Amino acid sequence: IKGSYGRRIAQYNHTMHEKLMLEQKIVNTMVESLQREDFQVYLQPKAEINTGRLIGAEALVRWKHPEFGMISPGDFIPVFEKNGFIYSLDLFVWRTACRMLRDWKKANRSIPISVNVSRTDLYHKDLPETLSGMCRDYDLAPDELHLEITESSYVRDSVQLLTVIRRLRQAGFIIEMDDFGSGYSSLNTLSDLPIDIIKLDMIFLRQSENNLRRQKVMQLIIDLARELDLPVIAEGVETEEQAILLKAMGCPYAQGYLYGRPMPETEFFKF
Ligand code: C2E
Ligand code: CA
Ligand code: CA
Ligand code: CA
Repeated sequence: IKGSYGRRIAQYNHTMHEKLMLEQKIVNTMVESLQREDFQVYLQPKAEINTGRLIGAEALVRWKHPEFGMISPGDFIPVFEKNGFIYSLDLFVWRTACRMLRDWKKANRSIPISVNVSRTDLYHKDLPETLSGMCRDYDLAPDELHLEITESSYVRDSVQLLTVIRRLRQAGFIIEMDDFGSGYSSLNTLSDLPIDIIKLDMIFLRQSENNLRRQKVMQLIIDLARELDLPVIAEGVETEEQAILLKAMGCPYAQGYLYGRPMPETEFFKF
């Protein structure tokens, strides 16, 4: 027993060490990677469930690292949120999305692009002016750029963050509450928060097929959203069965592998 215990600890330290090493390398290479444009902006379609019509796209960042190959955002976004680099990266993603919107408009193919806004980005008090300025630079109306702000940024005690989100909305940006239902949001706050669209977290679909209770919660959220005139986009829709279920529940919009995976701009444009 003593032997295997020791081995487990050694193994644990090994993976901890590897994780720290990877993190260190990520931090060491992030700035030059941004300059070299190793980061790319992929697009994933959002669709109307009834018709399959394309209604928008979400911009998702990808890192083609020269040494490690493709690294998933789940591995580097948390690191960048910790060390503050996320703001520089997001500025790059937002600007790229604006450039795409401008090019599409010239080609007469206009659909909104949603970009992710990290909770830590909201601490930049001039964020509304920065984003408005960006839209001006690319001749865009602010409502062509949607902002996905994760549910956990709406924490009750953070008046400061809420104020920035309100100012973004007043500036004309469409606010999508991301990952709704994944945290501790309470339903009664939905009516007074600055939100235009709700994105229902994929946790509801991952487990709903065999969980009637979770399905009932999902139905309640969809009904309430309709009462409040808030469109709902279900995230993580992978199968036809899930789409049929959502349609029956009255959910108007969806995003997920069933409609398309995140893809490079040129591929998306053909799509
Ligand atoms: P998110 O904003 O909730 O984005 C949705 C994630 O679900 C994406 O993962 C997407 O590829 C994935 N997804 C889409 N459809 C399906 C599906 O049908 N099934 C499954 N299993 N997954 C699906 P991704 O691209 O790895 O991004 C992970 C998270 O990283 C995002 O979650 C977002 O929080 C963050 N992120 C991504 N790009 C950016 C960015 O440019 N800026 C910031 N601040 N965060 C970003
Ligand atoms: Ca998102
Ligand atoms: Ca989400
Ligand atoms: Ca998220």
